[in-house]
Amino acid sequence: MTRAAIVAAPRRPTRQIMVGNVPVGGGAPISVQSMTTTKTADVEGTLSQIYALAAAGADIVRCTCNEPEAAEGLARIVPRSPVPLVADIHFHVEMALAAMEAGVACIRLNPGNLRKPEEIKLVASEARDRGIPIRIGVNAGSLHKDLYKKYGGATPEALVESALMELGYFQEVGFDYVKISVKASSVPLMIEAYRQLADTVDHPLHLGLTEAGPPPAGLIKGTAGIATLLAEGIGDTIRYSLTADPVEEARAGRQLLEAMNLRERKGLDLIACPSCGRAEIDVIGVAREAQRALESRNLPIQVAVMGCVVNGPGEAKEADLGIAAGKQRGHLFIKGQIVRVVPEDEMVEALVAEAEKIVAEGIEARLAAADRHAEAEAEADRRALLEAKGGDANMSEQRVELIRKKLGS
Ligand code: SF4
Repeated sequence: MTRAAIVAAPRRPTRQIMVGNVPVGGGAPISVQSMTTTKTADVEGTLSQIYALAAAGADIVRCTCNEPEAAEGLARIVPRSPVPLVADIHFHVEMALAAMEAGVACIRLNPGNLRKPEEIKLVASEARDRGIPIRIGVNAGSLHKDLYKKYGGATPEALVESALMELGYFQEVGFDYVKISVKASSVPLMIEAYRQLADTVDHPLHLGLTEAGPPPAGLIKGTAGIATLLAEGIGDTIRYSLTADPVEEARAGRQLLEAMNLRERKGLDLIACPSCGRAEIDVIGVAREAQRALESRNLPIQVAVMGCVVNGPGEAKEADLGIAAGKQRGHLFIKGQIVRVVPEDEMVEALVAEAEKIVAEGIEARLAAADRHAEAEAEADRRALLEAKGGDANMSEQRVELIRKKLGS
């Protein structure tokens, strides 16, 4: 089976909506979202963040529309944005209407905050007439108080019922061009709410764990929730909610989808061995240096940094390109095949140069250009290392002898 064929469970079939030119659901690629942290009235500042988010992998960006100046800002931002924009609406029906007037591609309504049925229906009617989708964005922290009372708290059932109530109002005016989210800050609660929702409706789902906090804990929590659902085939668009520069959210979303084979690789995937007693180099240092150099060149390639030539090339043979440390030398390998042996202090430089050539010429061409003496040189290094270190990389028998001597046992 090829790597690309190994994916999560089959995607849950859903309807499809269009957020501007980005399809969501209905088998479309899972999209990455993030949200600006600037004042939307600050047109230049917001646009510069939107561009940074798009460059980091965001397909769709949300901006708050909480005051008239924000709606005016949106009117100026929309025509210059590289990605479709969603307006985030909490309390003010007028802001939803103004955002649509500004030309946004989607509206997010929080059913817990905009509660009057006639106002909800007014927004839905306007969206229906304009052909704009709405995200029903339920949030456990701002759940409708009647539902909170009914269920004795923010339970998965309560979150799902909140979404269905909102959908019911929409349907009364003949509108159901929606995607839905049922976010919570608790991973198990969020997972269960989405599972129940997925069993109940066929609308596309926007996944997210809300208020996840700063990285790395926020990343771990977000990944635990989002990846679990994606692996079950649930989810059509995702957002990490991190207390950090939103660029990190977009990057994390993109990296998660690439790691799960749910989106084509757009950026670098650097893998590195954890290092052990066999390591011939400072694996962490070299991996960091390689990551910095390769990321700055934005090469869509999987690269491995391995601490020793005894196990490295074999363990990382799936990688497009890798380097393993030998006796003061680096073994450069492509798909597990040694193509060149370079001095240790040129390892990163050689890795970057080869990565650029692979991206420009392709793997087959670079394999064909391999140094034909490389395999023999590499084999000599491997043998020398095995002789020096033997099968016991941590030299445990010598250590035991030493301890015995010291203890006189
Ligand atoms: S055996 Fe070699 S490749 Fe594997 S962890 Fe140790 S140093 Fe890294």
